[in-house]
Amino acid sequence: MMSLEGKVAIVTGASRGIGKGIAIQLAKAGACVVINYRSNDEEAEKTYQEIKKIGAYALKIKGDVSDYEFSKQMIKTTVDKLGKVDILINNAGISKIGLFMDATPAEWNNILDVNLKGTINCSHSVVRQMIKQKSGSIINISSMWGAVGASCEVIYSASKGAINSFTKALAKELAPSNIRVNAIAPGVIDTEMNGWLSSDERKSLIDEIPMMKFGEVSDVGMLVTFLASENSKYITGQVITIDGGML
Ligand code: NAP
Repeated sequence: MMSLEGKVAIVTGASRGIGKGIAIQLAKAGACVVINYRSNDEEAEKTYQEIKKIGAYALKIKGDVSDYEFSKQMIKTTVDKLGKVDILINNAGISKIGLFMDATPAEWNNILDVNLKGTINCSHSVVRQMIKQKSGSIINISSMWGAVGASCEVIYSASKGAINSFTKALAKELAPSNIRVNAIAPGVIDTEMNGWLSSDERKSLIDEIPMMKFGEVSDVGMLVTFLASENSKYITGQVITIDGGML
């Protein structure tokens, strides 16, 4: 087991899906976990209770990561209550399926605001603290579509491609300060984000995956735990794909 005993981690978008899976794996490794989410109090409470059951410390902070002032406040609250931030997981994200030519400016601004600017906001807010601490690990949840692009998810793909280059550039800038920055690019993971798929669409998607199944949120959580731990201390600036061999 990779130990994160005594570490403080913030996971954005942790009320459900991949973020919840990450929060639980980090808690199992011994971290104190801040559960950020935007709206779903009931699901956030479930994440909170599961972490308490594991015996780890958890704190819920509700708010929108696309709001810079909120992201700054979230870091401040964490430091006020827990003294530091060792790990930031920029996971909160949204997608909208549809043709590029049917998209509206409000829709693409929303995707870019949450996925890309949310990642930039939280990173910018946490780096000053991590520089003070002379250590830290930032992990951005990208997507395999960020590397290769997906039809009908054009703006989403663009947001994730930008997260990949943001990760690589920030890693170079922060490496001398002993802060590592990596990204994880999941393939198809079984969450509500894919809830719009019909059972036929699910089947044909599974046919495209050499491992013949969707990934589980815990698969991403275990990779995050590795990247957050000392076991990966020489890894920075990487985008690691976890897709059952799909790409
Ligand atoms: P999900 O099930 O739809 O969950 C999204 C989470 O993000 C929820 O906790 C939601 O909180 C939160 N959130 C949304 N907008 C937010 C905002 N502005 N501020 C704070 N929190 C916000 O999504 P998922 O499938 O777990 O995806 C998580 C991440 O993995 C995303 O970045 C996504 O792009 C990426 N990803 C997913 C897949 C996949 O197959 N599922 C594949 C590749 C990459 P509330 O419910 O409280 O609003």
